[in-house]
Amino acid sequence: MDYGQIIDKVYTACLPFANEGRQADYIPMLAEVDAKQFGLCLLTLDGNVYEQGNTRTRFSLQSISKVFALAMCLSQEADRLWQRMGKEPSGNAFNSLVQLEYEHGIPRNPFINAGAIVMADVLLSTLSRPEEQFLTFVRSLSGSSTVGFNRRVAQSEQSCGYLNAAIANLLKYHGNIRGDITRVLEFYFLMCSVEMSCHELAHAFLPFANHRQPFNYGGVSLTSSQVKRINAIMQTCGFYDEAGEFSYRVGLPGKSGVGGGIAAIHPLHYAVATWSPRLNIKGNSVMGMKALELLTSETEESIF
Ligand code: GLU
Repeated sequence: MDYGQIIDKVYTACLPFANEGRQADYIPMLAEVDAKQFGLCLLTLDGNVYEQGNTRTRFSLQSISKVFALAMCLSQEADRLWQRMGKEPSGNAFNSLVQLEYEHGIPRNPFINAGAIVMADVLLSTLSRPEEQFLTFVRSLSGSSTVGFNRRVAQSEQSCGYLNAAIANLLKYHGNIRGDITRVLEFYFLMCSVEMSCHELAHAFLPFANHRQPFNYGGVSLTSSQVKRINAIMQTCGFYDEAGEFSYRVGLPGKSGVGGGIAAIHPLHYAVATWSPRLNIKGNSVMGMKALELLTSETEESIF
């Protein structure tokens, strides 16, 4: 498979979509990012790198970091985690309060905000140095010792994070947050603020594409079956209430974030990361969705 030629072709074919969509501005600092950037980077399991565009510029991972939080939670709690959240697609917006109310404080899945806020609570209660251990893990996965939090972005989100505060309060009311709400939200916003480039992000997702190799990064170990299950949740819940559309159009497990990034994997083949800040109405990057759709069409490979 000539991935290099395909990546070049896909990149060029996406350029006409550069002005479609709107970048997120509900986190004030995200609105300051230059919206015209677009990067696409594919890493194969056998060590080849194919990239085009802004693949070495770091951007805010936002919800993509929920995959890393889930990996840490499963390594700490194993299946006990599922007593505190489900693994069903939500069919609602990522920040919806509605289902939480009628499901008595049990979030639908780990990738909606409510689920990730519970995961922040789990990590705070099971890790001795949560921030440091989270960073050690993402640095080890991404292969870069300089990957870090952007505390200004976290602060910017916290300053107007009223909806997430409402979610945390509802979770606390239903007994699904054990710790102090302010501390849980602070850690949640910090995890979302991690920045990586497309190249680093593809690197960080490669171990999820390679479940036959031992998963042991920065103190976090998972079984092969746990890695496959994380991939299954990415497939069913990774794209807000557009997970079905992504499955239909692309056919790979992946996760998006409101910073405009998308990471996806083709198990036993490759990990791919795209970044372009303008989002569609469901909160997924317009150019990223297009690029991955074209990638699996051109390669004629997906998990299906
Ligand atoms: N920190 C963001 C929020 O809680 C993450 C949203 C996302 O990327 O989906 O709203």
